[in-house]
Amino acid sequence: MTVVGRVEVFWGLADDPTLLRRAVATVLEVAIEEVHEHRLCPRCGSSEHGRPSARVTGRPAPHVSLSRHGEHTVVAVCQHVAVGVDVDVASEPAWVRREAVGKALGVGIVEDVREPGPAWVTIAAPPGTTAVVAVDQPDAPVVVTREGPATPVR
Ligand SMILES: [Zn+2]
Repeated sequence: MTVVGRVEVFWGLADDPTLLRRAVATVLEVAIEEVHEHRLCPRCGSSEHGRPSARVTGRPAPHVSLSRHGEHTVVAVCQHVAVGVDVDVASEPAWVRREAVGKALGVGIVEDVREPGPAWVTIAAPPGTTAVVAVDQPDAPVVVTREGPATPVR
């Protein structure tokens, strides 16, 4: 059965350049060499930085999101709808939620919250941080799998 809000979350270290590709390869069950990662900056159009995307030839592009805080990087992959993930200091839960929702909507930080807005959940995060996953599908049950800082992809 298709669970629209099914999101697979992967944690790694901040300097890990292949985490996004490994995460997508794991979800789509392909070799990492088959995953092509792209960046597009919504502000300047650069492909050197900005919002990540991933593609596997012959497959529908999965929705991905990435966030870094301190030594931690988190990647979220959803095969059905746009997804946003954010990790930041635990003292700013409202900010983290707005970031994650903004990423799911593809608009950066949310200023006018659309109603009904994306569904979101708080996920397990490293000590001292809080993390939120959002999907651009109102009322979708957000089902997070593979989450947990203790289980980084290797
Ligand atoms: Zn830029």
